[in-house]
Amino acid sequence: MGKELLKELPSVDEVLKSPFGKKWLAIYPRRYVLAAIRDVIDIYRKLILEGESPSLALEAMASEITIHIERLTSLSLIPLINATGIVVHTNLGRSVLSGRAIENLIKIAGNYSNLEYDIESGRRGKRYSHLKRILRDITGAEDGIAVNNNAAAVLLCLSTLAKGREVIVSRGELVEIGGSFRIPEVMAQSGAVLVEVGTTNKTHLSDYRRAINPNTALILKVHRSNYKISGFTEEVPMEELSTLARTHGIYTMHDLGSGCLIDLRPYGIYGEPTVSDALNAGADIVTFSGDKLLGGPQAGIIVGKKDLIEEIQKNQLLRALRIDKLTLAALEATLMQYADEDKVKDDLPTLRMLLEPPEKIRYRAKRIAYLIKRRIKEQSASVEVIEEYSQAGGGALPEVNLRSYVVAIKPTTLSPDEMEERLRRGSPPVIVRIKDERVLLDARTIRQDEINTLASCILAALS
Ligand SMILES: *Cc1c(COP(=O)(O)O)cnc(C)c1O
Repeated sequence: MGKELLKELPSVDEVLKSPFGKKWLAIYPRRYVLAAIRDVIDIYRKLILEGESPSLALEAMASEITIHIERLTSLSLIPLINATGIVVHTNLGRSVLSGRAIENLIKIAGNYSNLEYDIESGRRGKRYSHLKRILRDITGAEDGIAVNNNAAAVLLCLSTLAKGREVIVSRGELVEIGGSFRIPEVMAQSGAVLVEVGTTNKTHLSDYRRAINPNTALILKVHRSNYKISGFTEEVPMEELSTLARTHGIYTMHDLGSGCLIDLRPYGIYGEPTVSDALNAGADIVTFSGDKLLGGPQAGIIVGKKDLIEEIQKNQLLRALRIDKLTLAALEATLMQYADEDKVKDDLPTLRMLLEPPEKIRYRAKRIAYLIKRRIKEQSASVEVIEEYSQAGGGALPEVNLRSYVVAIKPTTLSPDEMEERLRRGSPPVIVRIKDERVLLDARTIRQDEINTLASCILAALS
């Protein structure tokens, strides 16, 4: 019996030459079509050897082969639904771009451009020239450039301004961001010599003053992006550092981390200095990320004194750290949106999610809960909307809890962990958090146009 069935198994070539094979080859790469056919024939062979007698109708095999081909040709980087409420989530791609940024990115991606070409003179131009005016207008800086990310920005600035010389940093600001960016290590990489002053909780102006010697190049201030030092503390504001630096003929640099371009204090959010604040306080160079609170693509932006920016542009490292044209396209369009300070808060997804009034978030949460309750099987879960707190994330505002609303689901037939896993491995994946035996979906980071898909994902996970 088994032997005869084995003989009836089609060969790879037979399947390939069938109408199914022709259809697949028109759509999918040959190597994956072949691999999928081989895989499925192998599976059938094993079944037969185990004593089963599967139907060898080509239609049945073809639908399995199609599933295999789709799995083999699916892309690795895929969109998902962020239901964590963390707005700038580094593992989930940080900022979602604005419509304008995406439009411009597509336009530049699909055409030749004046990336490094000066249209007026017909000569070679600079890719950094495209950001100069807008950076000046929205930050008040004399000049500015952008590189691959903020880690690159810090490395490049230190290498240019302090290679082989000393840089003074407070012990309270020797930060590590996400495991891979640590101030002492970036400093070593740049060739600058780190001089630590003060203590973890207190650093005085006199600590900085005493550390200055003829080999000092720079005083560096680093924003405490992801932690807070509270209690008996003291740090020296940039105003005082820049005055001290000027009297000794050295420079000051402020690594702001997130790089907020608008004042968040009117929204009750404190502790995130704006780029203009840092410049007005006298910092010669300010660096920040493009994809944290700024709400643009991954980039590192350097603004400050014109002569220093020019020095930085001469550094050979810049070639290795340079920004690519797609990022530049998205970044320039994003920065241009900041020219209108009122509109930008609604137009950039990151700012919109961060500043959205809790009542509007509650409305979305209610809508999600309603869609689930309407279709859910009796007693497979309890669903309610409750008040919770979300976080800005991405190395910004570590101490700020943003009032939010979540859909809290307590499944009855499976554990919260099982439900979390099902949601995570669904299509599209939904990323949630668990608290008090309940799966929480924070509506802050869920867009209106994701709600129906999300509800279907939840129902699928519960069924
Ligand atoms: C996030 C952060 C960085 C690194 O920025 P990337 O854009 O992620 O490279 C550096 N410094 C500080 C203070 C940060 O918060």
